[in-house]
Amino acid sequence: MNLQERIWQHSRPFVIAGPCSVESQSQMMTVAKEIHENFKISLLRAGVWKPRTRPDSFEGVGKIGLSWLVEAGKSIGVPVATEVANSHHVELALKAGVDVLWIGARTTVNPFAVQEVADSLIGVDIPIMIKNPINPDLNLWIGAFERFQNAGFEDLTAIHRGFSVYNHPKYRNEPNWEIPIALMEKMPQIPIICDPSHISGKRERLFPVAQKSMDLNFSGLMIETHSNPNEAWSDKEQQITPKGLADLLNRLVLRKSMIKEEGLMYMELQRNKISEIDDQIFFLLKNRMELAEEVGDYKREKGITILQTEHWMEIINQRLVQADKLGLSQEFMREILDAIHQESIRHQNMVMNKSKE
Ligand code: PEP
Ligand code: MN
Repeated sequence: MNLQERIWQHSRPFVIAGPCSVESQSQMMTVAKEIHENFKISLLRAGVWKPRTRPDSFEGVGKIGLSWLVEAGKSIGVPVATEVANSHHVELALKAGVDVLWIGARTTVNPFAVQEVADSLIGVDIPIMIKNPINPDLNLWIGAFERFQNAGFEDLTAIHRGFSVYNHPKYRNEPNWEIPIALMEKMPQIPIICDPSHISGKRERLFPVAQKSMDLNFSGLMIETHSNPNEAWSDKEQQITPKGLADLLNRLVLRKSMIKEEGLMYMELQRNKISEIDDQIFFLLKNRMELAEEVGDYKREKGITILQTEHWMEIINQRLVQADKLGLSQEFMREILDAIHQESIRHQNMVMNKSKE
């Protein structure tokens, strides 16, 4: 099977669905059947080795799950995909007849592991999907593709699952859309699938992420689907039922692909990058004001005034030197700094003068 060709030829979105983890034979058969009754997906996914952040989480049923996955795929006539992280996984997955392999985000970060998997597959004709690394490093993601290309693989697909951040009020993994967009520019032959499940981390938030990926002309979606999400052994908050999957997919507004005229395509990409940076500026400003409030609390307790002129002048001088070095005009940066300072004082003022509970 050539996955790349299938994806490019499929009308958007190419859909990959299935549970986060294989749990049992009956769980796999049931979810495959229910998915099939609700929506005709193109690839059935499930993990048997689960790289979990904490060791006390469920880490997958292992080898036995491969045959349950393959059997479930056969029962609905859909090829199956699973995650591999080392040469042992590769050997077992190939033996079981898994059709497509994917490299997980925690493996893509490690060039040794990626190389080991690529080397263990030399001479094997199988499509590979590569998730972005957990850290927002485009080159590390590209490097993983190159390792497979050097090992003779052409049938490669990217999966965008977001990037790990310490403080994530909105997403489980920040989408940083500018990174997959840059991958589209650098490796236009590689289709990109969005994984809104791992980006949003919550089933209520899947839709806007999926819609955005369609608006950005992604080729497909990978969505974790479970017959009984609340009882799932992993990632229960982000999994949806097969019926929920069909509802989500049917709600998507699919706009026409961008007109492939050079200029328009370029403008669209640049605007998306700019908008992504503005998002980050807003988010950082919000974080900054939260810190100002914490400082305000402290000053209130200690009876210190808000305005520390000397400290503020020092900051301004340092930042204006920095502005020069970055090629930003001092006037512009001074205005920005003053505006931030004013807003920060407003926030500190708010906490300083709130009535004591
Ligand atoms: C998964 O797809 O279940 C998974 C573990 O994903 P990721 O590698 O994106 O965390
Ligand atoms: Mn998962």
